[in-house]
This record gives sequence, structure tokens and C-alpha cells, in this order.
Amino acid sequence: MPCLFCHIVEGRIPASKVYEDADLLAFNDINPQAPMHVLIVPKAHIATANDLTVEHDILVGAMTRRAAAIARERGYHASGYRTVLNCNAQAGQTVFHLHLHVLGGRDMAWPPG
Ligand code: 5GP
Ligand code: ZN
Repeated sequence: MPCLFCHIVEGRIPASKVYEDADLLAFNDINPQAPMHVLIVPKAHIATANDLTVEHDILVGAMTRRAAAIARERGYHASGYRTVLNCNAQAGQTVFHLHLHVLGGRDMAWPPG
């Protein structure tokens, strides 16, 4: 089954790109849940957080630091922002290509829904 985010990484489906390097792509969520709602994905296909190995530690660190950099660029680094990594169905994962949500620009509730 074709992977939506692999298609975005390959440029076969358009996305509003925010950041790109050799390993990562960041783009605006098509259905934003906050004034800032960016998705950060590895270019390599990894289905879920359960599939991460020690070899991915640098990649996951880079994703987290990129979230902070994007929040800083948007002016949300001091006020606050939220990163979310949904894993599997009960957590609400709908696209099975690892992605870090970066949300900001409004008050966030806790506990999350
Ligand atoms: P999940 O529910 O798997 O954690 O998050 C998937 C996210 O991908 C959702 O927030 C959804 O709005 C977003 N999304 C789904 N399809 C597309 C698309 O074609 N383009 C973009 N930019 N985002 C998408
Ligand atoms: Zn994929």
C-alpha cells in the first residue's frame, strides 16, 4: 500500500514545505489544529515509534531539535508549543509513517483528548 508521507517526501504529492535536509522534511499539516501545526517526518519510511532502533537515536534527536527551531522561527519558543508523536490506533495515529506534530499559538489542554 502506498505511503502518503513517502509520496510527499518524493514530491509526488504537494505539501507546504517548512524545512528540508538530507534526513528530514517538515511541512504544514493539511488540517491544522493550532495556528502552528507542522509535521516533521524522516525521509526514510519508519511506520511507528515501535519500529525505532538505537540507529535512529540521532534522527529522533534531530526531529526534536528541528521542532524547537521551527517554534523559535514562528515566535512560539518562549510562550510554549507542543510536540506529539501518536503511536498506533488508540493514540490516533492515522498515517503510518513516523511524524512529529509541532503545535503552537494557542492554549493547550492537559490531559490531551
Ligand atoms: P496522525 O493522526 O497520524 O498522528 O497525524 C496525521 C496528520 O497528517 C493529521 O494531522 C492530518 O491532518 C495530516 N495529513 C493527512 N493527510 C495529509 C496530507 O495529504 N497533507 C498534509 N500536509 N497533511 C496531511
Ligand atoms: Zn512512508
